[in-house]
Amino acid sequence: MAKSPLHCSFCGRNRDEVKILIAGQEGHICENCVDHAREIIEQELTVKEEKSNTSFKLTVKKPMEIKKFLDEYIIGQDEAKKVLSVAVYNHFKRLQQKSSEAMASDVDIEKSNIVMVGETGTGKTLLAKTIAKLLNVPFTIVDATVFTEAGYVGEDVESILTRLLQVCNYDIPAAERGIVYIDEIDKIARKGDNPSITRDVSGEGVQQGMLKLLEGTDVLVPPQGGRKHPEQKLIKINTQNILFICGGAFDGIDKVIARRVQTNTIGFNVDKELQDSMKRNLLQYVNAQDLKTFGLIPELLGRLPVVTHLDPLDASTLRQILTVPKNALVKQYTKLFELEGIQLTIEEEVLEFMVAKAMEFKLGARGLRSICESMLTDAMYELPSSDIKSFTLDIDYARRKFDTSKMSLLKVA
Ligand code: ADP
Repeated sequence: MAKSPLHCSFCGRNRDEVKILIAGQEGHICENCVDHAREIIEQELTVKEEKSNTSFKLTVKKPMEIKKFLDEYIIGQDEAKKVLSVAVYNHFKRLQQKSSEAMASDVDIEKSNIVMVGETGTGKTLLAKTIAKLLNVPFTIVDATVFTEAGYVGEDVESILTRLLQVCNYDIPAAERGIVYIDEIDKIARKGDNPSITRDVSGEGVQQGMLKLLEGTDVLVPPQGGRKHPEQKLIKINTQNILFICGGAFDGIDKVIARRVQTNTIGFNVDKELQDSMKRNLLQYVNAQDLKTFGLIPELLGRLPVVTHLDPLDASTLRQILTVPKNALVKQYTKLFELEGIQLTIEEEVLEFMVAKAMEFKLGARGLRSICESMLTDAMYELPSSDIKSFTLDIDYARRKFDTSKMSLLKVA
């Protein structure tokens, strides 16, 4: 049938075949097609809603449960674990409050961004990573040293949010509730107290840049990161609900703390034993004032209200790290051998030897892995091609392998 000039541009029905024909700029639509279109719209919208609900479902664990989970992977560091558990829990409560009734409430819970101070290799990154494992929010780790002030060679601080967007597949609402771990925050400390003629583009400049991220505003983020794609369209991210955890070794901060603690106690009759124990681990007294003396600007510290510390690792902690955590090194090697059909036994004396070497060489927990590797590489190379079904790492073998490895040359004077 020939189409009359008045027909539905969607289904093609003529004017006399439909009840209503609505005119648009360049065509018409009938009542049947309007109905159909409405169904499609409803379907699409519910699918989208379901998607965004499932991609971000809040699973709140109580602080004690969070700490218990951290205990499975990290030895010691009780204070840091406690502080982190509470901060993360409060972060979740805050998110729930935002998303539900509390818009009407006049109490606005502020974010508790965190700084962790502790020697390298004491478990800062591990803590942050383990938290990420537990949570159902996007999480990313960035290194503060790669950033420079906007306009200089290096990355802009906004690219921190690019990473967050990337891990959640550009799901903006999810990214806006994520957690970011900024490592090596101490490396962007202000270089010296005197404002110099040369600008401090990788220190104070970066801290200034971070302010707006930490405080919770709308930030324009390049979706691909970097400055290599100047043509890219910027994405607007609100950082109000993003939790920032910063970590750093802050080398030399113990002297700053010592100075402060000493001046505080001058004139008091302080117990000698107490003084000694204070001296042994000064980090436990770290506060925002020390971080300021170290070179973090007060504005940044104001946005990082929670300060906690990690203890240096002693021999008994290192010994536990070898065998106790869920994915302890010894468990990992045992599994590797098992996959090859070989039963691995490591003598107790060898474990003590590994710890002693890690302490002697000042390698910390990170060094334990290289020490294990130096003792087991030959076995892992040779045994798969043999018929041997069990292997015992005894002290003589371990000593021999360690002494002939490159590791033994690493001794620090
Ligand atoms: P940091 O970030 O403080 O420099 P990491 O968290 O990267 O140190 O620690 C390096 C490695 O050392 C970890 O992957 C882990 O295997 C081990 N480690 C460090 N501290 C601990 C700890 N307290 N408990 C268990 N393992 C630890």
